[in-house]
Parts: sequence; structure tokens; C-alpha cells
Amino acid sequence: MILEGFKSFADKTVIDFTKGITGIVGPNGSGKSNITEAIRWVMGEGSAKSLRGRNMKDVIFAGSQFRKPLNRAEVTMVFDNRDRELDFSADQVSITRRILKSGDNEYLINQQPVRLRDVRALFLDSGISQNSLAIISQGRVDQILNSQARERRGIFEEAAGVLHFKQQKQQAQRQLETTNDNLIRINDLVNELE
Ligand code: ATP
Repeated sequence: MILEGFKSFADKTVIDFTKGITGIVGPNGSGKSNITEAIRWVMGEGSAKSLRGRNMKDVIFAGSQFRKPLNRAEVTMVFDNRDRELDFSADQVSITRRILKSGDNEYLINQQPVRLRDVRALFLDSGISQNSLAIISQGRVDQILNSQARERRGIFEEAAGVLHFKQQKQQAQRQLETTNDNLIRINDLVNELE
């Protein structure tokens, strides 16, 4: 992941998430949470509040005692896609999000400008979208532990990728109902004509 001008990361910073577990340690306020926020942001997070800001422009480095504020923030995530985990025909996929002081957002996939929905579609079913359980914040752990059995089941279903099939099942059931209604109407018409 490459951050530049994002929150406390004024200078270009490269973080390598290699195989296995990457631990990020540092004193309070050193920017650990800003890293998880950068991951959510580049994957299309739309809520400034959930990134602890009032406005999306708040993610731009706002200056410090020694440095002037910057006028843009940029985060890039580069994925090794040799296993085609992401539905994109390239061995390496990079996703970039950029925001300017004007508030304009830009998204790029492999350096080509795309729409937000293209970024979201890329992560669909990959288990690493911005709303997935790949990122579990501190509060979310308590929420899972204190949740009711039914709610907890939903969390497991989401993690197991069952939710997607449930939605498809519901959609198919609705279509079946509509088809049944149509059949009844056609039968009525046939009876009338006979
Ligand atoms: P803790 O261990 O207390 O949870 P942390 O290591 O997770 O802390 P973060 O919350 O990620 O730290 O970082 C907070 C720091 O980021 C603060 O010092 C804050 O001033 C700085 N920060 C946040 N937004 C910006 C911004 N837009 N410009 C400059 N600095 C920012």
C-alpha cells in the first residue's frame, strides 16, 4: 500500500503486507488506525464520519507544527492477482483513490480512470470489500460478542459468503411468485375463452 498526503502520512509511505501476519505497532496517535482507514478509503468508503472526519476532504494532510497542509491525498493498493482472486485479467492489480482540495475524487484501476462502482465491483465476492469482515474495528469485536444468536449467525453467513446466495434465492423466489401470478391470470383468460 502506498500512501501520500493521507491523514498523518504527509510523505510518500510504502507499507508491504507480505504473506502471513503484519503487525503494526506504535505509540498512541502515531497513525495505526489511519492505515486501516486508508484501506477502507481506497476501496470506496463513502462515509467521512466513519473515517473520523466531518468532510471527506478531512483525509488530506492538514498540516503540522513543521509542515504546511497539502492539497491532495492519494492511496494505492497493489494486489498480487496471479491466482485471479480478483475478477480482473492481470497478474497485478492496483487501485488508486485520489482526493483534491476541491473535494473531487478520482479512482484508477491499473492507472486507468474508472468509476467508484467499478472499484466496488472488483471487490465483490472477494471478501475484502470495505464493508466486509476483513477489517474488524475495536468496537465491532464487542458488538459481535454481545450480539444475539440471530445477529451473530448473520455475521458468520456474511463471512462465509452465504449472504450473497441468500439474496439470489430471495430474488428467485420473488420471480417465481410473479410467474405464478401471471400463470393464474393466463389460466383465467383461457377459461374465459373456452
Ligand atoms: P491509538 O493507539 O490512540 O488508537 P493510532 O496510532 O491508531 O492511535 P491514529 O488515530 O491512526 O493513531 O492517528 C491519529 C493521528 O493522525 C493524530 O495525531 C491526528 O492528528 C493525525 N491526523 C488525523 N487526520 C489528519 C490530517 N488530516 N492531517 C494531519 N494529521 C492527521
